[in-house]
Amino acid sequence: MPADAPSLDHLGFFRFGRVAGKVLITTDGGAWAFLSEPELAQLLAGDVAAGHPRFAELQRGGFLRAGLDLDALAKKLARRIGHVARGPERHVVTISRRTGGKDVGLDRGTAERIVDVAFQSRSPSVSFEIRADGGEPLLDIEAVRHLVDFARGSSARTAGKTLAFTLVSNLSAMTTETAEWLIANEVAVRTWLDGPAEIHDWNRTYTMAGAHADVVGWIEWFDRRYRDLGMDPEVRHVDASMTTTRRTLAAWREVVDEYVARGLRSIELRPLGPLGFDADAWEAIGYGAEEYLAFYARALDYVVERNRRGARLAERTAAGFLTSILASGDSARREILSPCSAGTNELAYDVDGRVFPGEEARRVDASGDPIFALGNVRKLALADIVRHPTVRALAAASLLDAQPMCADCWNKPFCGISPVSTYVCAGDLFGQRPRTLECKEHMAVSRALFALLANESDRDTRRILEDWTTGSGRLR
Ligand code: SF4
Repeated sequence: MPADAPSLDHLGFFRFGRVAGKVLITTDGGAWAFLSEPELAQLLAGDVAAGHPRFAELQRGGFLRAGLDLDALAKKLARRIGHVARGPERHVVTISRRTGGKDVGLDRGTAERIVDVAFQSRSPSVSFEIRADGGEPLLDIEAVRHLVDFARGSSARTAGKTLAFTLVSNLSAMTTETAEWLIANEVAVRTWLDGPAEIHDWNRTYTMAGAHADVVGWIEWFDRRYRDLGMDPEVRHVDASMTTTRRTLAAWREVVDEYVARGLRSIELRPLGPLGFDADAWEAIGYGAEEYLAFYARALDYVVERNRRGARLAERTAAGFLTSILASGDSARREILSPCSAGTNELAYDVDGRVFPGEEARRVDASGDPIFALGNVRKLALADIVRHPTVRALAAASLLDAQPMCADCWNKPFCGISPVSTYVCAGDLFGQRPRTLECKEHMAVSRALFALLANESDRDTRRILEDWTTGSGRLR
């Protein structure tokens, strides 16, 4: 700082940017406020003191050094990075994998070892996401049943942990008997729905989704059955993921309408990643960052508009950011985190028992690059896995405080990056933030949400966004 520069000693630490014609200031603890340009000038000049209309609010938020509650700030910071020490909660298990036209399944011994290792976690809750790579887990329903039965089988093994199971399926091989077993065993179902039949079935050439008629038929069946059994539809419902192809971009309205029409509680808008698509496929379905961001802005606006008209549909990417932007959200329950969750909070297991720091890392391996493999679950204890040098490298590379540009970005308290994704796109774990699609996407999502929140008189929109962090749009 030049010798004649005004002292800023009266300020707490915050970052700022301009959103919706206002100045947005944010702290590491996640406090934020909109200021006018004159108010920012007053704050910097030290003119926001007792008697100023914004004094109490800015002092409470930690924007002023006077009266700064350091203990409260430390608690908020600890909570935001607490996932690193909580132990792996999410365990993604590949139950079968198609290679060279043949399906290879997870053997019983390896499945049991995965469960045992998962239960070594200190996390009070453990969730298993059961899926297939290039195939369909329902084709090996006995393996699915064995994993669930074994995990639930012994209270000594679970040691009081809360268990959750999700089957990720295209539903093409679903039967009434299997569906009843899933409900009876509290296994949630997640599938793929890319929009109305015309778009969904066109996309299927490039995805693992089932036929549109099967998917919507089973969504309706589960919905009806959950209600018949008196289950709370807020808790028990089928979730769907969406693959956004070039064909989807112009159909944002139709896609959102389809989700509302099918009674789904949330939609997850994410850009297509390059993993799993060859050059020809990418040529047919890929697109640039600007095209995706224009699609996202329109689709998000339309989701909010449908909610204003009475629908209950949360956008899950937005909901992830809102959990740390709004006090109503539980910032511990997020997927977009800094440091990232890879290896510390999420693990993935391939059919051969190899362990990876998350499903994205396992998919990098499936595409032919074993760089993120941590070893085999049959030989490792959980402590070896979470302390593995690769897990440490991923945590360090995703710490935004240490990233050029992120360290100064107003969105830093709410953002998170995936070094695995950066590795795929840029060839190293760090990349150059502003050049990555992830950074552009996260900036656009936060900017859109804060633009909605900037209109303080719009209580209706605020209520809708809060509902996304506490209702069925919240991450589970
Ligand atoms: S990734 Fe981009 S949006 Fe996120 S904190 Fe870094 S610079 Fe900001």
